[in-house]
Order: sequence, then C-alpha cells, then structure tokens
Amino acid sequence: MSQTLYIVIGCDTDPDRKDFIDNLPADTLSWRGMLEGIPMMKERIAKNVDSSGKEPILTWCLRVDEQIKSYYGRYASILALHRNFFLELENSGDELAWHPHFWRKDAGSGQWYQECHDVDWQVDMLKQAHADYQSELQGRGKSVRMGWDYHNNDTFTTLQNLGVLVDFSAIPGMRIDSSADKLNTFNSFDWEKTPNHPYYPASSDYSREAKDGEKTSTLIEAPNFVSESLFWGTVRGMVMAKKMKSLGQVFRAIRRPTYWINITGDPPLARPVLRQLEKRLAKKESVLFVSYFHPDELLPNKHKLYSLENMDTNLTALLQLAKKYGIGVKYLKASDIINTPSIIQ
Ligand SMILES: [Zn+2]
Repeated sequence: MSQTLYIVIGCDTDPDRKDFIDNLPADTLSWRGMLEGIPMMKERIAKNVDSSGKEPILTWCLRVDEQIKSYYGRYASILALHRNFFLELENSGDELAWHPHFWRKDAGSGQWYQECHDVDWQVDMLKQAHADYQSELQGRGKSVRMGWDYHNNDTFTTLQNLGVLVDFSAIPGMRIDSSADKLNTFNSFDWEKTPNHPYYPASSDYSREAKDGEKTSTLIEAPNFVSESLFWGTVRGMVMAKKMKSLGQVFRAIRRPTYWINITGDPPLARPVLRQLEKRLAKKESVLFVSYFHPDELLPNKHKLYSLENMDTNLTALLQLAKKYGIGVKYLKASDIINTPSIIQ
C-alpha cells in the first residue's frame, strides 16, 4: 500500500477500577471488564474492517507484575488462570503483550504505591516477571505499555535486553514529576521531548529521537497519537494543574500543547485528536495512529467519559477520515510496527 493509515489499538488489561465499577471485592481483584467486556467489544466492532476486509486487531497488554504475584502467588498468574481466553484472542489475530505496573506494597501501612524511586527494584521485578511470562506463554510479550505510562532509561534498556520489540507507552509532550514522597499514588512520567510519531530512541534518553551519529536504542517507541491544539492542550494543562496542584502544568501545556483521550472516550472530546490526524492525512502521508483503553471502560460504567459505544463511534470516524482522503487503512499488532519502516522516523 502506498499511503496508509496504520491503526494500533492497545488495551491496558487492568482489573476493574472503583471509579468505573461498583461493588468491587475488597480482598481481591475483579476482572469483569476483561472477561465480559472484551468479548462484547470484539463482537461490536467487528464490522469496522480495514481496506483488506480485516476486523480490528487488538494488542492485549497483560498484567504480569508484583501486584499480581502478591494477590495470586505468581507474576504470571493471570496468564495461567485465563490461558484459553487469551489464546482465543490470539487465534483471532490479536497480540498478547505486556502491561507491567510498578505497584509496590508499603510494608508498614499495607498501602499500594507506584515505585518510581527504587530503580534496582524496578529492573529486578521486570526481569523476574518477564521470565514467568515466558514460562507460561513463551514468545509473547514482545510489545509493552508500561503501567501509568512510566519509564526511565534503566527500565527502557531492561525491556530492550529482554527482547521486547515495541514500547508504546509514550504520551508525547506530557510530563508529570513524581513526588518526593515514597508512597506515590498518582502516575508520573516524562515524555516532554517525545515526538508525535514512532522513533528509535537515543540510548542515553528513551524519551527522544536519537540524533545523527548518536547511539540508538533498538527498542522502538511508538507514542500514542496526540492533538497539538493549543486550545485543547491548554485545557488539558489546566485540568492537570488542578489535579497536581501545580501551575507548572499550565505553562508546560502552553509551551508544548498536547491533548489525548482513550479510543473509548466521548466522541466530542476525541474530535481534536481526529482533527490532528486529518491534517496528516491531508498531506497524503502514511500515518501510524496509536491509541489505548482499559477493559472496564467497555462495560456499562459510572464514569461519564468512556464506553464501548464511544469506541465504535471513534473507530468508525477514523475509517471515514481515511476514506475521505482516499487513503487505505490497515490494522496492526503493536509488534508489527517494526515491519513497517515507512512510518518510523
Ligand atoms: Zn494500567
């Protein structure tokens, strides 16, 4: 295909969250979004075929990490418990990928927090969890979306050394500093310098493209597609500033406006992202559109912004946009990005 809109849809296959689903059990994790939502979704969006008549391909980033081990006994317990469910998804053409969180339990208070200070712990956990993933489902986990979009140079290099081919955690332009407080319960990450297209990162800095002659990572970063609208970027900055109680988020947003929403997001709020995509398609260039969602967003839920219906509407809008510009559409697994050199800059 000459000009193509490539679409990668990842799912952070997390357990159900309390701001989405009522009556969650207190002593264990709940997986209704995954077990009930995914089959519903596969059926609902099957009609949104690409130019070769193929149904949407999903990349299921599965939870294999310390928190899962703490609840079920093994890093890869979820793979073992739902093995046939995942293999069926794989047989339908989807990819089984990895979504490790750095949730760590504070020994004193019993509180879960995002470990973003102890790099040795992070690296060791990734290595052990990956080994257990491979013992359960060998050869999978070639693509990764990190828990809460977090990376540092050590975690990125560790994934590369473990044979991961594509990371798609980046939210270009977004940065949230971690608190000095060890018990960090909000997501922190740094993608401030990251371009809005796939790239080979500099070995010395995962978050930016390697410059000419600079040592390059072999692990590709394929960021989520974001809108660069000043208006929407500033709105997003103001929301973040309120949440983080830091005006710095507004200044940052004005300097580098960036805005995104999950593929399951309210269609009017997804419009700025589609407008950004349209600008690229109008130039008749091939574009990689990367997005993600969570399984509990697929069930009837109490959050106002996310639903399966929205996902269907947004996907239909994507296909219509490509049609408008006479551009072909191809769904990809995240790891297929490495075979599509025309979109990596
Ligand atoms: Zn997650």
